[in-house]
Amino acid sequence: MELKLNKIMPSENESKKVEKMIIIGAGPAGLSAALYAARAELAPLVLTGMSLGGQASLTHTIENYPGFPEGVGGAELGELFQKQAERFGARFEFDTVTEVDFSVSPYIVKTYSSEYKAETVIISTGANPNHLEIPGEVDLTGKGVSYCGTCDGWFFKDKDIVVIGGGDSALEEGVFLTRFAKTVTIIHRRDELRAGKILQTRAFSNPKIRFIWDSIIEKINGTTAVESVRVRNVKTGEESTFPTDGVFVFIGHTPNTDLFKGQLAMDESGYLIVDDKMQTKIPGIYAAGEAMDPNFKQVVTSTGWGASAAIQATKYLEEKNS
Ligand SMILES: Cc1cc2nc3c(=O)[nH]c(=O)nc-3n(C[C@H](O)[C@H](O)[C@H](O)COP(=O)(O)OP(=O)(O)OC[C@H]3O[C@@H](n4cnc5c(N)ncnc54)[C@H](O)[C@@H]3O)c2cc1C
Repeated sequence: MELKLNKIMPSENESKKVEKMIIIGAGPAGLSAALYAARAELAPLVLTGMSLGGQASLTHTIENYPGFPEGVGGAELGELFQKQAERFGARFEFDTVTEVDFSVSPYIVKTYSSEYKAETVIISTGANPNHLEIPGEVDLTGKGVSYCGTCDGWFFKDKDIVVIGGGDSALEEGVFLTRFAKTVTIIHRRDELRAGKILQTRAFSNPKIRFIWDSIIEKINGTTAVESVRVRNVKTGEESTFPTDGVFVFIGHTPNTDLFKGQLAMDESGYLIVDDKMQTKIPGIYAAGEAMDPNFKQVVTSTGWGASAAIQATKYLEEKNS
């Protein structure tokens, strides 16, 4: 998408200025934090990274974000969030954070082109769904390839789809997708599932769900829409073409939090750990959205976390500076 940013070229003096708040990331969480902080007159500086709008901008239409009865384009929603935050004084810089130092206050945030100091930082660097990295996957994303059943299931009413994965999220989403799809075929590389027993029972007893065991997909076929997948049995080496209208990939998410290793607490998957006020173990450093949320992964939940973090950071600054 085209980036429309209030480009900031800090002078020598400005680059030494201490920002009240820096927001790292411009997905739904970061943009909503920017709106709340801007309305609290903190003039937050948002360092966007590579994707203004975040993961939401990858999808054609978002139909489950309240306030848009006809749905809204994923990229358009990001632009609307940005405009709303800018209206109240949020500033945006198209730059990626490469290093942070939270051991000194004000906190130091380094990007490819600059170095900033800030009294508070909201981390909203999101997460990425793990990809299969096979031919056809990138080209057909949004045209039948999806990483979110809650988001895209509705588009597959009475269609035949495949789900890739064998863990909790693959089965949970697979069962959910049977509300819409005619059939859901779960393709799993092993001959047993990693998912919990209750989910397994639910999946095995669902008449719409079938399994292809010991198999991986090597290619997704189609031009304007998914038409089939090439399946290879990892035990026999046998290859076949399996017709399908959609491919849902649930092979885990990776939070974008490597940057904070050694400085902030995170769980074994890399999700940042925050308290009930969105604060990390360091006062004034908050996390919001998929960088700290292993469970919900929605635009509406991420914007909620972002707003909460900004409200708390505002209170923190008020108390600190009073
Ligand atoms: C294909 C697809 C379709 C989806 N459809 C829907 C849907 O229909 N409805 C729904 O509710 N949800 C949907 N989702 C999920 C939704 O998009 C996410 O839950 C939401 O975007 C998470 O918001 P976030 O702000 O936490 O993180 P992200 O959206 O992941 O944004 C992360 C931000 O951090 C930035 N960043 C990362 N690293 C750095 C760095 N080092 N320096 C600076 N910036 C950095 C990125 O550039 C980006 O701006 C979909 C997801 C995908 C992948």
